[in-house]
Amino acid sequence: MSKSESGKFKIITKPNFAKFVNALIKGAKYRVVGVKEKDAGYKKYAFDDLENASELRLDYDLTVLPPKKYFYPPKESYLKFNLGGPAAPTPILETKPVAIIGAHPYDIRAIELMDKVFSETFPDPNYLSRKENSAIIGIHCLNPYGKSFAKSMGTTTVERGFDLMLTDLGANYLVEIGTVKGEKLLEKYATVKKAAENDISSKDKAMAKAAGKYKLSIDGGVKAFSSLVEKSYDHSYWAEIAEKCFACSSCTMVCPTCVCFDVREDVGINLKEGTRSRNWDSCLVDDFAKVGTGENFRENKSSRTRHRMLRKGKYMLDRFGIQGCVGCGRCITACLPDIASPVEAYKRLKGEK
Ligand code: SF4
Ligand code: SF4
Repeated sequence: MSKSESGKFKIITKPNFAKFVNALIKGAKYRVVGVKEKDAGYKKYAFDDLENASELRLDYDLTVLPPKKYFYPPKESYLKFNLGGPAAPTPILETKPVAIIGAHPYDIRAIELMDKVFSETFPDPNYLSRKENSAIIGIHCLNPYGKSFAKSMGTTTVERGFDLMLTDLGANYLVEIGTVKGEKLLEKYATVKKAAENDISSKDKAMAKAAGKYKLSIDGGVKAFSSLVEKSYDHSYWAEIAEKCFACSSCTMVCPTCVCFDVREDVGINLKEGTRSRNWDSCLVDDFAKVGTGENFRENKSSRTRHRMLRKGKYMLDRFGIQGCVGCGRCITACLPDIASPVEAYKRLKGEK
């Protein structure tokens, strides 16, 4: 560890980390959210508002929904307007800074992709202001979800996208400082000490042990996946899975990299005002690619199942330089007929059974 690197790492005891989280909650600058167990005993986890650090479950494997919902909510009204006179459109921007505690690296990589989508296409003030005012406190995943293949997608660690990154070392957390904001949070709210050489090697050992627990993988990783889906445009696999697809959109609703939305306008019952809102949408549903003239550019389910996988494997990578699948495994669990898995798609397109 070089001298400049050593300053990036701190040690915080678990009781002191709990005090840090409670101080953040009490400080009221942030809406503090973190991973909690839902329906105790069922091992289902979700990001939710925290009232106390004792609610946190940082040993979780996977949350049902990714933390993207705090920057890009499932439904959001973003414009109001008047009827029967000048429309006077007024933007709606309701944000409170959010501190997200416990994001895994694969979800942080997905947020990095969303940052690009919402800033490089048409800069989106709602997303960008939420993101700018947020704090992300990540944690390395030492208990990978059984259907995750994050290791093969290179997302068990990230170099950026977090303010602080934790690694569970038993009695303590190793804390990596990612930004000045993260450093200031520690200075203001936490009691930490400088990490020693053996703390870093303990982290490396814990990470190596966790890496050995992944059961699923896409051999060859992101690049191999990308070139295989590109070559497989006319493969019969798309029609085969389309026959079983309900077009229910579950696979896309849980995906941390899905960013498509539908825009609608609603008129108030007084017929004097209305709102424009956006809602998460899915490329798997029947009318996703239907246009005003009635034409539907992806009328067949097979064109939609193919589009989803090309977007995950190739399109986002080509356009933004970040893969559209981070290997979390959520879609594999969410799909009732079990046809949404990128790992299975990769195997079948390669010709494996
Ligand atoms: S495609 Fe599936 S495995 Fe990949 S990021 Fe989306 S939900 Fe996770
Ligand atoms: S979850 Fe499965 S069935 Fe539902 S839209 Fe996705 S692929 Fe089709």
